[in-house]
Amino acid sequence: MIKLNADLVVVGAGSTGCGIARDAAMRGFDVVLVDKGDIAQGTSGRFHGLLHSGARYAVSDPALARECAAENAIIKLIQPDAVEDTGGLFVSFEGDDQDYAEQFLAACAASGLVHEEITPAQARRDEPRLAPRIVRAIRVCDAAVDGWALSLGAVRSATAYGARILTYTRVAGIDLADGQVAAVRCQDRKNGRNIVIDTRFVINAAGPWVSQVAALMGIDGIDVTPAQGIMLASGHRLTSRVLNRLRPLSDGDIMVPARTVSTVGTTDEPTDDPDRLTMPRARIQEMLSAGEALTPGFRAGRVLHSWVGARPLIEDSRAAAGERREMGRGMLIFDHAERDGVSGALTVAGGKLTTYRLMAERAVDLMCRRLGDERPCRTAEEAVPDAVGPPRRITGRWSRLEAARTAAAARAAAGEACSDQPTIQDPVLCECELVGRSALIEPLAQSPDWSLDDLRRRTRLGMGPCQGGFCAARGAGAACQQGLWSADRASAALRHFLRNRWIGQWSVLYGDALRQAALDDRVLYGSLGLDLLPADEAVIL
Ligand SMILES: Cc1cc2nc3c(=O)[nH]c(=O)nc-3n(C[C@H](O)[C@H](O)[C@H](O)COP(=O)(O)OP(=O)(O)OC[C@H]3O[C@@H](n4cnc5c(N)ncnc54)[C@H](O)[C@@H]3O)c2cc1C
Repeated sequence: MIKLNADLVVVGAGSTGCGIARDAAMRGFDVVLVDKGDIAQGTSGRFHGLLHSGARYAVSDPALARECAAENAIIKLIQPDAVEDTGGLFVSFEGDDQDYAEQFLAACAASGLVHEEITPAQARRDEPRLAPRIVRAIRVCDAAVDGWALSLGAVRSATAYGARILTYTRVAGIDLADGQVAAVRCQDRKNGRNIVIDTRFVINAAGPWVSQVAALMGIDGIDVTPAQGIMLASGHRLTSRVLNRLRPLSDGDIMVPARTVSTVGTTDEPTDDPDRLTMPRARIQEMLSAGEALTPGFRAGRVLHSWVGARPLIEDSRAAAGERREMGRGMLIFDHAERDGVSGALTVAGGKLTTYRLMAERAVDLMCRRLGDERPCRTAEEAVPDAVGPPRRITGRWSRLEAARTAAAARAAAGEACSDQPTIQDPVLCECELVGRSALIEPLAQSPDWSLDDLRRRTRLGMGPCQGGFCAARGAGAACQQGLWSADRASAALRHFLRNRWIGQWSVLYGDALRQAALDDRVLYGSLGLDLLPADEAVIL
């Protein structure tokens, strides 16, 4: 058994938990962040990718709209590497309720959200793929955000301030002594070790799993209904800006440009278990229709992948009847000293990924008050490490690759030894996402027990049109060739990765995507015989 000590244990390394760990570590607390999986493997890696300008909530929830607007500006400053500043457009079409446009404009003005109405002709010039018969078009400050890059950036910052991060470590018990949090008991899922962290404070940021973690402290009555939302990624990027339907909130309203693809979504359907989300064909068809309505031709084009995430819709069965309606929206912080007589414990849930920093600030402020140790929050002023400069651009990776090649060619022309010639030393393994060999091998050398999925979250390997059919085998081969993985481990990692990719592929298999899947199958299972290789997949998490 391993024994650790900390001022604070944060349960859950989604955006909320990563933000809390960063904030508390920056205030000088000794923090341990624990997740049963990888960083942002829950909802924060299965969301829509919109850094909200607030406009979507201008009519329905002005307070949330204002929070999103303020945080949108802050995130662009402190985490530009996670954001592509695309801008956004709200568009109404013939047949939509045109009264809503007036309400929307008035609500944006009332909340001070930056917006500008443009003509339908201008909207079509900005976005030529946009459906015709536009009636109104309004520009807003929406942007695209990468949930993995954002959460990993917060973790980099937390680590720089001394926080310890335990991934693939499940919190299995929380011990109390006289109604006060005393220790957190964890199981390391990679090697079966038990870890006990002595602490006097726990923040439960377990997203749709918060009620399970609260139950470990004997706390009940926080009822979570996971509401699942489905998204689809198109085969290439269809628009430059985020597109929103200008109508009251409903399913399939939004299309977000996400690096080389566009994502359309989402749905909102209550379910029972956050570990068993489903993607019914009828919902997939609805999202195909939603994409078609925004950009005609979407359905006939290629759809690469589908995925599903769960919003934690929370009801506090102890709240008064009148309050219950409000529990599902915005951010929630439960102070368990006040609510349940358990000192040293908070639960934080809800909100948006866009407002993750603000949620963390409020939670850590409350922790400081409870500890009688007020320390100011500094997360809005300081950029996360290695994230300075303007927001990233779609062309960023290509520019870096070209610059490296041009420099190597210049050195070669000058007669200098050119051992770092990137075309030889750093071949591109994943052409769609421009992932070079070194981008995979260098982090893997630090953490050889990572899976190809862990690497995908950090590099985007396998997220393009071949869905890993070519690049995953190259990645596993490179790890093996470098001596980081045995042949058996590489085979197991490859099988595990492709099986996980398949979960998001099968429901959108038609046309070119089906042809690609058939080709991948022939190469990997027909020629390479991947299913016949000796490999113990159980070692890969
Ligand atoms: C379909 C959908 C689309 C969305 N789109 C957007 C959007 O475009 N823009 C936006 O701003 N917001 C969006 N959101 C909201 C946003 O995704 C969430 O608010 C945010 O990701 C929640 O993060 P979290 O950290 O609270 O939860 P999560 O990311 O789910 O993190 C919880 C973590 O707790 C861990 N955990 C659970 N139990 C344990 C345990 N026992 N031990 C250790 N770890 C544990 C899990 O592994 C998980 O990593 C969307 C949400 C959904 C569902």
